[in-house]
Amino acid sequence: MPGQIPENLQKQLADRLAFYEDLGIRLFYRDRAAGNVFHGEWPAESPGNMARSNEMPHEDPTLPKPARKLDLQKVVPAAAPKMPPLPLPALAGPSLFDAADKIVDDTLLRIREDLGECTRCKLHKNRHSIVFGDGNPKAELVFVGEGPGADEDAQGLPFVGRAGKLLTQMIEAMGLQRKDVYICNVVKCRPPENRLPEEDEVKTCSPFLFRQLDVIAPKAIVCLGAVAAKTLLQTNRGISQFRGQWLDYRGSKLLATYHPAYLLRNPNAKGEVWKDLQKVMAVLGLQVKRSKPS
Ligand code: SF4
Repeated sequence: MPGQIPENLQKQLADRLAFYEDLGIRLFYRDRAAGNVFHGEWPAESPGNMARSNEMPHEDPTLPKPARKLDLQKVVPAAAPKMPPLPLPALAGPSLFDAADKIVDDTLLRIREDLGECTRCKLHKNRHSIVFGDGNPKAELVFVGEGPGADEDAQGLPFVGRAGKLLTQMIEAMGLQRKDVYICNVVKCRPPENRLPEEDEVKTCSPFLFRQLDVIAPKAIVCLGAVAAKTLLQTNRGISQFRGQWLDYRGSKLLATYHPAYLLRNPNAKGEVWKDLQKVMAVLGLQVKRSKPS
């Protein structure tokens, strides 16, 4: 039909405009919004047709000007919008704590009583003692590890082995003492051979941890290692993707850092952990020191 751009040409034009938009060039769209770009059908005597026949349609002020030729040299691509950080993806399956409303008048004592001589998961078979948690029940700072080791299993207390001694040094370097903070783990019974807790064990035991954190309601939670961080954040992301960043956990600030056992194997990472702990000190209003613990 005279005066109508063939359909295949319209598609080519649309594709080209989309291509320029992908490049951040939006001048086309401003022109089109101003009514200067051809939209599909012109009458035979229209300025578009006249322009195509090299006449000067814009000399008639009553007629719209034809689309002007784009000078790509003058086009400044739009600045890329600043993207917010990606949200942490949820684990598949029902959240363990989304559905769990805070239990009214819950206490650490009641949680311990509810736990009892727990046989809910297979970790009970080889344990010597349940390692519930230790420290100030009103602590502003809670450290969460993954599970007890041999020393912890023997003594019934968290972080009392070599890694625990390093954690104690870290706490003291922050200007605190162990009795000022609360320390607990994701699972409360020792995994055999100090292996990582398995998914079903975490799923069974962690609701008790969630209740502990609800009761204590600390200002800051430090996750020691990936298991604790992934459990509280309900994410499968590697800890390196969010280590040292403040995140939210049910109203508390949460920061993940390396487990002290990892630091025993990789002393070079102590500096990174010390930087993380200094962020915690800043949130708690503790004086930030310059030297890191040895
Ligand atoms: S790890 Fe937790 S759920 Fe499993 S037996 Fe021990 S206390 Fe119970």
